[in-house]
Amino acid sequence: MLEKIKGQKKAVQQLAADLESGRLAESYLFAGPEGAGKKLAALEFAKAVNCSGVMRDSLIPDSTTPNIPCGECSSCQKVDSGTHPEIFVLDFKSQSELLDLNSEQEIKQKEYRIGSIRSLLEKAHLSSYETRKKVLIIDGAECLNLEAGNALLKALEESPRQCLWILVTKSPERVLMTIRSRCRRVWFSPPEIVLDEDASAAEKLASEFLERGAQSVSGALEMSARAVALDKKLGTRKAAEQFLKCLAIKMSSDLRENPTNMKAEKLLNIIQAQEGLSKNLSPQIVLDSVLPSLL
Ligand SMILES: [Zn+2]
Repeated sequence: MLEKIKGQKKAVQQLAADLESGRLAESYLFAGPEGAGKKLAALEFAKAVNCSGVMRDSLIPDSTTPNIPCGECSSCQKVDSGTHPEIFVLDFKSQSELLDLNSEQEIKQKEYRIGSIRSLLEKAHLSSYETRKKVLIIDGAECLNLEAGNALLKALEESPRQCLWILVTKSPERVLMTIRSRCRRVWFSPPEIVLDEDASAAEKLASEFLERGAQSVSGALEMSARAVALDKKLGTRKAAEQFLKCLAIKMSSDLRENPTNMKAEKLLNIIQAQEGLSKNLSPQIVLDSVLPSLL
């Protein structure tokens, strides 16, 4: 089931359990870093919810894991070709069509506007002909401006029961708390990261930090000083990069095994620190600010 979603065992288990029990939430928040496959998962889930191959497969004797979505029925094929009339993805391309923007305005888009949410809501209220669930996906839900966010909150509250909303985001902390709290959260782990060959010192230090743990802010700052000085040849920036990479790998495998919101938040902090390093912030300052947040 949901076999096209790769490397996301926990998320797939959670979604498959919802499908099997038939207890779907009215709205989901798919959260996790860039490249984790959240949008693909949203489309596969939309397919699975509406797949008409399910009945046929469940009639096969001894079939314990029906092939859902089947990928062959007309509903699945329409989702794959992006022509399903009742499964809608809001992104900057579709917003520019909804709001009739010209090409210059299309490129400059940075946020989703209230007009787009109103259009989605109109779609939600149209009667449904060929689907079990109308699926409305917002790709990059962190881009909703305040007005659009408030309109979405109202939409979630008043949405007809045949609708399923999926909010996809790499920055759940930037989605209104009132929206988040209405959504069932599905966490996606970062894509597999591969370590450089010369990272063994960084790896040891990362294990030391996570396993034995720095007990205090001053302990974390001491660890930060050790991390930037790990390898004189590498220089402080590269050393800090490797240390953060090791922390991210360990934290994400831990998260896969045993997901909690707190671990997810910590991993996001590490990813933000990596972004800070790539924007040329001082390695020492980046580590000094992130490590105490991981205690
Ligand atoms: Zn199908």
